[in-house]
Amino acid sequence: MIPLVDLVAQYNSIKPEIDAAIQNVLTSGKFILGPQEKAFEQEIAEYLGVKHAIGVASGTDALIIALRAIGVGPNDEVIVPAYSFFATAGAVLSVGAKPVFVDIHPDTYNIDAALIEDVITKQTKAIIPVHLYGLPADMDEILAIAQKHNLMVIEDNAQAFGAKYKGKHTGAIGDLGCLSFFPSKNLGGYGDGGMVTTNDDNLAELVRMLRTHGWKKKYFPEILGYNSRLDEIQAAILRVKLKYVDQWNKARWEIAQIYSRSINGIEITTPSEIINRSHVYHLYVICLKNRNEYISFLKNKGITTEIYYPQPLFLAKPCLIENNIIREFPITSRVTHESLALPLYPEIPANRIIDVINAINGCLGTKKLLIE
Ligand SMILES: *Cc1c(COP(=O)(O)O)cnc(C)c1O
Repeated sequence: MIPLVDLVAQYNSIKPEIDAAIQNVLTSGKFILGPQEKAFEQEIAEYLGVKHAIGVASGTDALIIALRAIGVGPNDEVIVPAYSFFATAGAVLSVGAKPVFVDIHPDTYNIDAALIEDVITKQTKAIIPVHLYGLPADMDEILAIAQKHNLMVIEDNAQAFGAKYKGKHTGAIGDLGCLSFFPSKNLGGYGDGGMVTTNDDNLAELVRMLRTHGWKKKYFPEILGYNSRLDEIQAAILRVKLKYVDQWNKARWEIAQIYSRSINGIEITTPSEIINRSHVYHLYVICLKNRNEYISFLKNKGITTEIYYPQPLFLAKPCLIENNIIREFPITSRVTHESLALPLYPEIPANRIIDVINAINGCLGTKKLLIE
């Protein structure tokens, strides 16, 4: 089977460096908030072009802590896209606030900025744009709306490490940015991890307090915080991987170009490339009718595919308590039935790329084979 991702192939490509980095941590005796974590925070801040980067235990925690840092809680509303990984809405529910959903744009699968103002109320505190699949959201429009209505913007940057919007890295554009280092992300560790990024000194201080029980001075909590840190082993691994991430993102982009040029058929929509935005292809997702037919056809050909995501956020059980269903989300509803992710990872062998293309085009019956 051709897998969707192959994390072992990536590990094997940098094995000696990773093994040495882990060994170093083991013999250092420092496992939480030590020198690796500190150095990694500095390196990420420098890479993204942002003043502060604060390591936390996961991308979900990064969202929760970012929401807490800007004071979101019960009776507040936070605007999120109707289509994303569950954590985007789950984090809002976790701090006691209400996620308010906005449909996505059919070209980008990101929140449709033109629909945001319709749902702003007196309770609205923030907007969380998600750079879905690695394509930056409409940040100019979103920031303008936020400014006009005095809202904070938290970028859910979990899928877009390294992406740029008008020359700026995602995660350095809104008030706060949230990264996930889940193993399959573009910059992924070998366990859970996350990070909050911001240019605001006060928010950075709050995030640092929140990740360690709400204290600045040990054992004297000032607010109710969490235990949410990025451990030294993950930080050491991620420091090694950070050196390669641009090269890996470039490989992802090139594979995506081959897919988009070669996959044909009027019933298939390939991902959009948008001027002034770099797509880092966390996932390569096509939209097609008759998805189930394709899934079983491709499976028979030995090709793994996956649906990201099979249900809109507002239908997730924890979200159903909210009365959001009165509005319609036509694009989200369509895309949940049509989206399909194809195998894409930096190390994917060329012959596998060709196998995927031929299988898809074969399923269409066009018989067009890829000519190298
Ligand atoms: C992965 C992801 C998260 C959560 O990250 P974890 O590290 O798994 O907690 C949040 N939002 C989006 C869009 C993601 O893809």
